[in-house]
Amino acid sequence: GSVLMKRYCIHRKLGSGSFATTYLVTDSRDSESQKVIKRIPCNNVKADATLPSATEAKLLGSLSHPFIVRYLGSFLENEDFCIITEYCEGGDLHDHLHQLKDKGLALSEGHVVEWFIQLLLGVNYLHERLVMHRDLKTKNIFLKNGTLKIGDFGVSRVLVSSDLATTVTGTASYMSPEIFTRDGYNSKSDIWSLGCILHELCTFRRAFDCSSWIKLVTMIVNDPCPNLPSRYSAELNDILQRMLSKDPELRPSAKDILNFPYVIDRAKVIA
Ligand code: ADP
Ligand code: MG
Repeated sequence: GSVLMKRYCIHRKLGSGSFATTYLVTDSRDSESQKVIKRIPCNNVKADATLPSATEAKLLGSLSHPFIVRYLGSFLENEDFCIITEYCEGGDLHDHLHQLKDKGLALSEGHVVEWFIQLLLGVNYLHERLVMHRDLKTKNIFLKNGTLKIGDFGVSRVLVSSDLATTVTGTASYMSPEIFTRDGYNSKSDIWSLGCILHELCTFRRAFDCSSWIKLVTMIVNDPCPNLPSRYSAELNDILQRMLSKDPELRPSAKDILNFPYVIDRAKVIA
C-alpha cells in the first residue's frame, strides 16, 4: 500500500458492495477535508482497461455542479482502482428512504419536488455535456446538508459493462425497456431511471420490483406505469407517467421537464 497509505488517512470503512469497498478518509495535503475513497479490485480485469483515459478523467474532474458528487481523482493502488470523491455526510438516498419508511413517515409533495428538481438540474447538467450517468438509482444518490447529489459515475464507467454489472448485482429495477430490446442506452434511459427514483421518493417502493429477473424485465417492458398515491397531485403523477413512457422518444428530456409550468413554479423557490 503506497499512495493510499502515504497521502490518505483512513477514518473508517463506510461499507462494501459487490464490487467496491468505500472508505471515509482525510487527505494529508488538505487536512480539513474529509473525502471518500472507493476501492475496486481489478484482479481479473486488465488494469489499463479500467483506468479512465486522460480525456475521461479530465471530463469527470471538470464536472462541477451543486447536485453532483464532486470527482476528485483516481489512482491505481496495487491491483485496485481507487476513486476519490467528495464526502456526503448524510449517506445515500436508499438508506435514507428506508429509515423514513421504518418510521412510518412520508415525504410531502413540496419535499419530493425540491429533491426532484435538484436531480433534474444535475441530470440536465450532465446531458448538456453529453454525459450519461447510466446507473441512476437511490443507492447512487447522496445527501449533503439536506440536498441531493448524484454520484458513482467513475464506477459505472470502470465496470466495463455497467448494464451487465447492474443486473448481476440484482438492481435491474431502474433499467429502461430499451435496454432489453434492440435500441440500447441513450440519455432518455437516464430519464426513465429518474422516473423510478421519483416514484420511490413518493412511495418508498420501487416502480418495478420482482425477485425473478425474467419477470422483472417483463414488467418493465410491458406493465403500465404505476400511479402515485392520491396524496400527490395529478401534475406530479403526469410527469411520472411521461418519464416512464415505454418509448424513449416520448419521454421528456431533463430540460423539457424543467420547463414544465408545474416545475418552473416550484423551481423559483429553490434557485
Ligand atoms: P453499496 O453502494 O453497494 O452499498 P458502496 O461501496 O458504493 O457500496 O458504498 C458503501 C457505503 O458507502 C454505502 O453506505 C454508501 O452510502 C456510502 N458512500 C459511498 N459513497 C459515499 C459518499 N461520497 N459520501 C458518503 N457516503 C458514501
Ligand atoms: Mg454505491
